[in-house]
Amino acid sequence: MAMRARGIRRSIATSTVNRVAIWHGSPNCGPRRDGLTPSLIVLHYTAMRSAQAALERLCDPDAEVSAHYLICTKGTVVRMVEETERAWHAGAGEWHGLGDINSRSIGIELDNSGSHPFPEPQMAALESLIRGIMSRWVISREGVIGHSDMAPDRKGDPGPRFDWPRLERQGLAAPARAFATGDGAQADFFRAAREAGFTAGVDFETLLAATRLRRAPWRTGPLQSADFIL
Ligand SMILES: [Zn+2]
Repeated sequence: MAMRARGIRRSIATSTVNRVAIWHGSPNCGPRRDGLTPSLIVLHYTAMRSAQAALERLCDPDAEVSAHYLICTKGTVVRMVEETERAWHAGAGEWHGLGDINSRSIGIELDNSGSHPFPEPQMAALESLIRGIMSRWVISREGVIGHSDMAPDRKGDPGPRFDWPRLERQGLAAPARAFATGDGAQADFFRAAREAGFTAGVDFETLLAATRLRRAPWRTGPLQSADFIL
């Protein structure tokens, strides 16, 4: 185990130069169910002390978690699961009314604590990776989502520091759009959020927090008209 860990560390260090994805397979995967192919890309942060620790966990059979890719802060991309396979990153939740997100998605983990900014090399590597995945599987920008979008009651990643507008400017994530507000009541907000894709069954406060996390992480207080831009 120690030998293997040292080997991983060395390969991460040496590949930061050329950003070529390195392969470190995870056993935590299986076939996609019902013949599904990827139509979503789900972004995560690792919330671990290092990329190394995250990689070990994502490849530990006892942990029963994985993702297709892990991107280190210096931009190294580690491939852990083939894109054709079903990685175990999303768990319970749904998006636009569809469950089993693992069978419908490619999962990307970003080495980040949850409270730190995402460094430029990491963002650049992510953008390049997303472009490639969108092209290979014909995934639209609307299909690029955060873990917190599909599992608002359980997850907060990729978190308030993630630069969604940067992805949106490049056509790598859906831009915000205004939904009909009605009189601005909670029922209208639920409807608007569902229309935007937030269909996981959660209470109002949880839903509002999840949508703000994606669109306006600085916003607090009661529901306001700006919250209908989703
Ligand atoms: Zn996650």
